[in-house]
Amino acid sequence: MSNSQNKTDVILIGAGVMSATLGSLLKELAPEWEIKVFEKLADAGEESSNEWNNAGTGHAALCELNYTSEKSDGSIDISKAINVNEQFQLSRQFWSYLVKNNLISNPQDFIMPLPHMSMVQGEKNVEFLKKRHETMTKNPLFQGMEFSDDPETLKKWIPLIMQDRPANEAIAATKMDIGTDVNFGALTRMIFDNLKTQNVDINYKHSVEGIKRTKDGSWELKVHDIDGCKMEYHKAKFVFLGAGGGSLELLQKTGIPEGKHIGGFPISGLFLVCKNQEVAEQHHAKVYGKAKVGAPPMSVPHLDTRYIDNKKSLLFGPFAGFSPKFLKTGSNMDLIASVKPHNITTLLAAGVKEMGLTKYLIQQLLLSKEQRMEELREFIPNAKSEDWDIVVAGQRVQVIKDTEAGGKGTLQFGTEVVSAADGSIAALLGASPGASTAVHVMLEVLNKCFPQQIKEWEPKIKEMIPSYGVSLANNPELFQEIHNSTAQALRLSEDLQDNN
Ligand SMILES: Cc1cc2nc3c(=O)[nH]c(=O)nc-3n(C[C@H](O)[C@H](O)[C@H](O)COP(=O)(O)OP(=O)(O)OC[C@H]3O[C@@H](n4cnc5c(N)ncnc54)[C@H](O)[C@@H]3O)c2cc1C
Repeated sequence: MSNSQNKTDVILIGAGVMSATLGSLLKELAPEWEIKVFEKLADAGEESSNEWNNAGTGHAALCELNYTSEKSDGSIDISKAINVNEQFQLSRQFWSYLVKNNLISNPQDFIMPLPHMSMVQGEKNVEFLKKRHETMTKNPLFQGMEFSDDPETLKKWIPLIMQDRPANEAIAATKMDIGTDVNFGALTRMIFDNLKTQNVDINYKHSVEGIKRTKDGSWELKVHDIDGCKMEYHKAKFVFLGAGGGSLELLQKTGIPEGKHIGGFPISGLFLVCKNQEVAEQHHAKVYGKAKVGAPPMSVPHLDTRYIDNKKSLLFGPFAGFSPKFLKTGSNMDLIASVKPHNITTLLAAGVKEMGLTKYLIQQLLLSKEQRMEELREFIPNAKSEDWDIVVAGQRVQVIKDTEAGGKGTLQFGTEVVSAADGSIAALLGASPGASTAVHVMLEVLNKCFPQQIKEWEPKIKEMIPSYGVSLANNPELFQEIHNSTAQALRLSEDLQDNN
């Protein structure tokens, strides 16, 4: 073991989509800054950002029923859907900027056009979907959304789902043709490949084990070089904890007051993947259903066409479950190790409040393959067990904290940026809507941590992301212009795809 001291401007911990996004934003805004990355695995995008570990939905609220709710007066609240859509527009613009400036190439290797659909069964749900469609289509962001409860139309939209269904079944769907399937793993790897060419020092198989503040206000990291079997020490003025499920542990190690009274609730995931290509070819959409009673919002079942490894695949899930690990490659001790004197009452309160959810997750974990197939048959009535395999997805660590609205130990389902008061360190916690909104979340990091520079950076941010600071829902013309230009840059219109 040997020691070495190195000082740099920025250290990014973790090589997932979040660090990739922050690194590429910073490289454009402050090209002279030195950036180092430490990733404990052998490559970028191997944990939650990996294509097999998440559902690859470009979350733009075009199909996810949990982003809207019915109010007590019967009207539909679409404010969350508008927010998520606006956030996804930021990602589309930044990815387009990266493509147009040759910082990444071949957008079809990470993003493909794919209809996004919501599907419901039962008369009450059909009524709800109809009303939801009426409300959403009044908003410019959701214009073009189609609704149908006509079996003949549905057979054209979703033939596999409509096969062998009773003729009198109440079923309806909405369809948005402008949805996308995103391979976040490929995107992450492309961005890191480019950062490497721009002198970003990327260190794989380097695990950050300690972090402490130094006398001059910067941060010192203790890094384990796994292959070299040695410890290194690196200093930086700004550190981003983009370690996914590993961020909470690192945040706790910093000792900053903002990181106290926070806990993590890990939720595991499984997908069923179709191994019969003939079946997979009969479906072409992401079809989101309604979450089961007691299920967490991120386990809404969906049947998705995916583009992975240059092949069209079909996945169903995710089935949520309970696992004490905070990373897929983590340890069974992660949950226990995250319990600290300052967060134990928060965690205990959550334990009592979320007893039902924990029970649900444990039950889900114990489901047999055949029981999972039964859930799939609500989507594909004649699905055959021999056509489907189970694959393990990534871990999602939900934030538990004390809030005014929810009280002690409230489980949060969003993403959360926790930063030190002086902006010298920031952590990203939580997992949803996730990778789709990476650009929005990393802009939040820049705003929180670089208040001195953000004004000066604004013109460049607007060059990269023209709708920065503007509501597209309130500017339909700008929305259309941005939608068209990003579709062109990312080759998302069908005619551009056909020409490939
Ligand atoms: C089942 C499932 C389905 C999902 N579906 C979607 C979806 O459809 N659409 C969507 O937008 N999002 C989805 N998400 C969420 C999305 O995958 C995540 O929000 C996103 O990938 C998180 O990126 P990240 O960079 O924060 O973390 P990660 O990709 O997990 O990267 C963190 C990295 O940090 C490394 N690391 C950890 N600890 C250390 C350490 N101490 N030292 C060095 N390196 C470390 C890890 O090895 C890892 O590579 C889904 C997630 C799951 C689990």
